[in-house]
Parts: sequence; C-alpha cells; structure tokens
Amino acid sequence: MNAHLQKACQQLGLPNDHLAISIGSNWQPGRGESLNVRSPIDGQTLAEFKMADARQVEAVVKEATAAFVKWRTVPAPVRGEFVRQYGEKLREFKQSLATLVSWEAGKITQEALGEVQEMIDICDFAVGLSRQLYGKTIASERPSHRLTEQWHPLGPIGVISAFNFPVAVWAWNAAIAWVCGDPVIWKPSEKTPLTAIACQTLFSQVLADNPEVPPAISSLIVGGADVGQSLATSPKLPLISATGSVPMGRAVAQNVAARLGRSLLELGGNNGMIVAPSADLDLAIRSITFSAVGTCGQRCTSLRRAIVHESIADKLRDQLLGVYEKLPIGDPTSDGTLVGPLVDERAFDSMESALAAAKSQGGIVHGGGRMTSNVPQGGFYVRPALVEIASDAPIIQQETFAPILYFMRYRSLDEAIGIHNCVPQGLASAILTNDVREAELFCSAAGSDCGIANVNIGTSGAEIGGAFGGEKETGGGRESGSDSWKLYMRRATNTINYSTDLPLAQGIRFEV
Ligand code: NAD
Repeated sequence: MNAHLQKACQQLGLPNDHLAISIGSNWQPGRGESLNVRSPIDGQTLAEFKMADARQVEAVVKEATAAFVKWRTVPAPVRGEFVRQYGEKLREFKQSLATLVSWEAGKITQEALGEVQEMIDICDFAVGLSRQLYGKTIASERPSHRLTEQWHPLGPIGVISAFNFPVAVWAWNAAIAWVCGDPVIWKPSEKTPLTAIACQTLFSQVLADNPEVPPAISSLIVGGADVGQSLATSPKLPLISATGSVPMGRAVAQNVAARLGRSLLELGGNNGMIVAPSADLDLAIRSITFSAVGTCGQRCTSLRRAIVHESIADKLRDQLLGVYEKLPIGDPTSDGTLVGPLVDERAFDSMESALAAAKSQGGIVHGGGRMTSNVPQGGFYVRPALVEIASDAPIIQQETFAPILYFMRYRSLDEAIGIHNCVPQGLASAILTNDVREAELFCSAAGSDCGIANVNIGTSGAEIGGAFGGEKETGGGRESGSDSWKLYMRRATNTINYSTDLPLAQGIRFEV
C-alpha cells in the first residue's frame, strides 16, 4: 500500500482487518460475498473482506429503531452540538480523509479536499438548523383556537450512496438527519467502503466523548444491491435516501412505494449548457472545461451537452480542443493533475461504446481513448472527448459516466432551450450569456426544466446552502440546504381550543 495512504489510514484509526457492519462503535463481520476493493489509481487491492448480506440488515434496523426512541426526545440544539463535534473531527482529519477519497474514488487532491470540506460545511449548516426547525402558526377561522404546526423526528433513515461522492452525500444526509432526530443507516457503494469505514470510525471517536448519545444513531452496512433492497423494503425505515443511477433509483423507488414509504432520489444527470453569442469566451472555456472533464466526467452534475450558438461555435470548439490537448491527466495525488482516472474498466468500456455509438450516429469525435504512458499502470486513464453531433442523435439522451462532451449548434434561443430540455434527465443546467433577458428567460418557468439552473457558471460544483437535486428521471429529490430538512421530519398540525365552546370548521352545525 502507498505510504501516504497507509499513514492516512493509521491517522484515521482504521483497522487492518475491515468488518462490514458497524452499529455505533460495535463492529461485526459480514456474512455475504467477498469484496476486493481496488484503487482506480493503479488497480491495486486496497482491502479484501466479506460484505454483509441482506439477512444482516434486520438486526441493524432494530438497533436504529431503538436508538430513535431516545434520540427523538433529545432537544434539537443538543443534537446539533453532537453534529458540531463531528464537524470539528472532520476538520482535524480533513487531509487524511481526503487522501483516502483520492485513493478509493480516484479524485484529484483538490477535489478530494473539497469533498471533505463539503462535509464540514453541511455540519456547520446543520448546527445552525438545529435551532431553526420552525413550524408555522396559522390564522384559525375559529375563535379562541390556535392552529399551528410542529416538525417531529421521522425515524431511522436508510442512505444508499454512489462511488463518486463517497463521503459528502452521506454527510449531507447524516448531518441533517441527526439534527432532525433521525438515526442513519448507511449503505455506501461497494467501490468505496473504506472511506465509509473511516467516517464511521470518526463517528465512534465523537461518540466516545458523548456517552449519553445512543450509539445506533449511526450504522454502516457494507454490502451490495441486495442490502440496498433490504433497506428499501424495510417498513421500519420511513425514508430511503438513494443516490446513484436511474436503474438503481427505479428499483429502490418501486420497493419503497410498495410499502408507501418516502424516498429521496438523487439520480443520473445529463447536464446541458447554452453558450449564447454574447458569452464571455474566456469564462466559457474555463467553466466548460471544469464541468466537463473535472472528476474525469464522473459527477452527477458533469457537463455532458454544450449547446452553442452557431456564430461562435467554431471558435469555441477550436479553443476547447486546444485546452483539452494540454490537460494534465494522470495520478490524481500528484500536484498539478487536473484529470484523474475513470473508476474502473467497466466505466472505460461504457465510454468506448458511447463514442462508437456517437460515431455511428454521425458524430465527429475529437479525443477519447485510453492513455497508458505517463500515467500509473493499472488505472483507466482517458483523454476527454468532445463530440460534434446533431441534437437529434439518440446517444445524447443517455448519461455516460465519463468525460464526453456532446457539442451541438443552435440558431435561436427557443431552439436552444428546446434542445436543452429534450433529454429525460433534469439535474443541472447553465447558460453563459451577457444578455439579461436571455439569462432571466433561462431561469424562468419557460426556461430550463432542471433542479439547478445557473447563469455564467458551469453545471457542476454546487454549494451546500441550496437545495440539491433534479427533476424527471433524476428523481425529484432535494437534499443538503434550504428547506430539504423537511423531508427528514414529519409534520403535525395541531388545533388547540382554549374556549368552552366547540365551534366546527366551515361553520358546520352539529347539535347533540
Ligand atoms: P449505482 O447506481 O451503480 O450505485 C449506487 C448505489 O446504489 C450503490 O451503493 C449500489 O450498491 C446501490 N445499488 C445498485 N443497484 C441497487 C439496487 N437495485 N437496489 C438497491 N441499491 C442498489 O451508481 P454509481 O455507479 O455508484 O454512481 C454513478 C451514478 O450515480 C450516476 O448515474 C450519477 O449521475 C449518479 N449520482 C447522482 C447524484 C445526484 O445527486 N443526483 C450524485 C452522485 C451520483
């Protein structure tokens, strides 16, 4: 194992032998299939251990349910104090956790640090929120009555997360859920279990300083899709928050809906950007490059479609290709690298087949292909691709989780918005323009149909303060900031009569 990684694991207090299940600080072995955790950097095995199987889920749910009974009565600001301490722990171990994120998910150092910073930010947000779980007081139509609403803890939450944000997505859910009074059971991606084990280890450390906190407010189950489904079908989990591909979301949503549970879905994106004639081209180059090739095109918000006005398209394409040629691609832990590896061979194969499909549909492919020199051997390093293609080519409808940018041309803004909205996904979108009318139209009800609509910045790199999520096949969920917390609570409407009369609503008379 690489010396930096080994040091980071030691600092985080990670054991050499990994166990798949943790309830608070109680670790237990999995009884499922063997898992070989490989680094995208060079394909080396980082760990091997047995995953949990679906039959082990019930015991974890039982403990979380018992913890909920206690945790829900702890005042929210006191719950917030626990989250504050967890945020402090993350500050202390930011560098080590980021090193683990780089080795397990292949992120460049800056993005790995940014991911841990996002965890810290959401903890800060949640601490403030713990004193702001406001309900409304509503004007009652009856005399001497008070109509009000309260927000109560919901219950234990199941969190299923994807490989590409191995720790931030859990933190978005966990920090908010904890202040809302909900225990969290986390099933991370099988590709990134070590970062999850590290987060749970840090949780145990904070727990040790807070003996009054029920340990099972945080549990971890490293397992496969069967474990995810077991969480989805459990009637004891009122909310399942699932981040990943559209097929995964469909499977989870059906099972949660069958038991009339609540699901929060954060699924695939197919994010577009309109580049208008008035756009600042320098800014366009920088924002397109970061959004399209950052994280090697493996963000749910990665830019996949540039819809460029025909008057500037050739110039922008040529400049972009010039930048693409010089991109520092390679070991994500080396200084200066901007593009790391794809997560694995399967991701590489889907990039290859998308590019082949694009070609067969009339696309002109620039770039693409595997790099083998000046990169660590054993990883899947690729040249990002820019594909000039017609806006009605079927391939542009699909999300390929790799750095492929489809480059299309438009004549009128109406046409551009039509092209933009013609895909089944609806996560992030952007317009680059200096024309205020175009910008406002894009953000209006008649503009972008996405959950995120930006002006003069790219599609990726959201802040935690806003509600994050998307429409259509992206699943409709919202997490992180704004009022996303409401999904993690149940609302009780209270009508209180402080008179001796019993007036009925709507003026109904019912004399007995
Ligand atoms: P994935 O769907 O393969 O796996 C995600 C998680 O779901 C993993 O934990 C996996 O074990 C689990 N899972 C898979 N099939 C399941 C099933 N049938 N039932 C229950 N659980 C199941 O996704 P991935 O390859 O890890 O991540 C990439 C995808 O995630 C992309 O589509 C990306 O756009 C999406 N994503 C979306 C967001 C968002 O916020 N919208 C954020 C990150 C990633």
